[in-house]
Amino acid sequence: MGIASINPATNQVLKTFEPLTTHQIQTGLERAQAAFEIHRRVPWAQRSMWLRQAAEILEARAESWGELLTLEMGKPLQAAIGEVRKCAWVCRFYADRGAELLQDTLVQTDASRSFVRYQPLGLILGVMPWNFPFWQVFRWAAPALMAGNGLLLKHASNVPQSALAIEGIWREAGLPEDLFQTLLITAEQVAEVVADERIRGAALTGSEWAGSSLAAAAGKYLKPTVLELGGSDPFIVLESADLEQAVETAVTARMLNNGQSCIAAKRFILHDSIAEIFEQRLLERYQALKVGDPMLPDTDIGPLATPGIRQELEGQVQLSVERGAQLLIGGHPLTDRPGNFYPPTILTQVPPDCPAAQEELFGPVASLFRVADLEAAIALANGLPLGLGASAWTTNVEEQERLISEIEAGSVFINGMVKSDPRLPFGGIKRSGYGRELSVEGIRSFVNIKTVWIR
Ligand code: NAP
Repeated sequence: MGIASINPATNQVLKTFEPLTTHQIQTGLERAQAAFEIHRRVPWAQRSMWLRQAAEILEARAESWGELLTLEMGKPLQAAIGEVRKCAWVCRFYADRGAELLQDTLVQTDASRSFVRYQPLGLILGVMPWNFPFWQVFRWAAPALMAGNGLLLKHASNVPQSALAIEGIWREAGLPEDLFQTLLITAEQVAEVVADERIRGAALTGSEWAGSSLAAAAGKYLKPTVLELGGSDPFIVLESADLEQAVETAVTARMLNNGQSCIAAKRFILHDSIAEIFEQRLLERYQALKVGDPMLPDTDIGPLATPGIRQELEGQVQLSVERGAQLLIGGHPLTDRPGNFYPPTILTQVPPDCPAAQEELFGPVASLFRVADLEAAIALANGLPLGLGASAWTTNVEEQERLISEIEAGSVFINGMVKSDPRLPFGGIKRSGYGRELSVEGIRSFVNIKTVWIR
């Protein structure tokens, strides 16, 4: 339905918006460019102050922004409030560390002095998804603004109110009015914006299809991109693992955000020796999960964000079962109520040629696999063209070392769940994308790394 906020718990339309016209986009770009010309010369201390101010606004009103997120995309309210607070963290991280991460780097050469200077590129377009409507934007925006760029946000069509709220937060934080703009545009209008001479780079978080479309449009005009795409992260549990902790973490890692997280554990790869007991305990934990109104404090799982997402998930689970996977629990949409509710689901004996083994399942569905040894676990984990994150559970140091070296993914977490942290780089390999956000790599994603040589 175009650009619209629709409550996924009730399917009630909350607000609709008309996409901007070409003329309005052009005016926005013009104003953003003018703001950038000033911002690029603004001292670090001033940029830090705006980021700190944004952090304070986010923290002070975390509850009301949290309600907005829950209303627009259905994540449980406490998680939504936590997401808003995490945005304050990334703003503070770059306010504190940004200047140091972008300091000139001295290099000894044949020059009397040579060094590397990091300078802003200009206007950067951010194409963002609905699953973490605030976090995905802030983790891109805080470093890019600290580096001196101007930003244009094209948010997902189902979270326009969050998109406008974010623009408002930056304005309230004191950032020059036109430097961060939300463009309410459709996916089809993205190529037109990317083509504009003033756009110097683009970041996209979303599906493989969207990533490859954006990269193609940007590639045509030779503009750099950072792509954070989908994943089907393995969660490997070996013989020596602390099973209690592994099961507990497995539930959180799969159910986070109603199962709609790129770095959610999606494929559980279990050593034969512990598979039975792991399955049993996971089932018990799943049976205790409460699906319902995401505004209520005791709800574990809210609705999926759109009817289309639920329909796709239902199709993937159905086809997996037709191909031989067994349903341990769940597996059918909850049609006894309005909204896009789907129950916690466990698939076992998943055959290799079905969606649960081959594709990303974006919802509360755990796919369980059994393996005889570490070799088989690594082979299964690496068997997909995706490579975002991986979690592996073992207390054996040699096994840990092999997993760290051999897993094909942007991150490996040993005895813990994959998560993003401003201090660590975040991103994927293979068809999960390229480039990195967060940490030092994130703030250097959209800068001119300028070599300076002086005799
Ligand atoms: P999506 O459909 O790809 O949407 C993401 C964004 O891309 C939206 O703003 C969307 O706009 C836009 N878009 C869609 N098609 C486009 C095109 N052809 N050209 C330019 N822009 C386009 O993704 P989704 O299904 O909402 O999000 C879920 C996916 O994102 C999952 O695969 C998930 O794993 C991935 N994800 C990855 C990360 C990560 O950091 N790696 C984080 C979160 C999510 P419209 O809404 O207007 O279509």
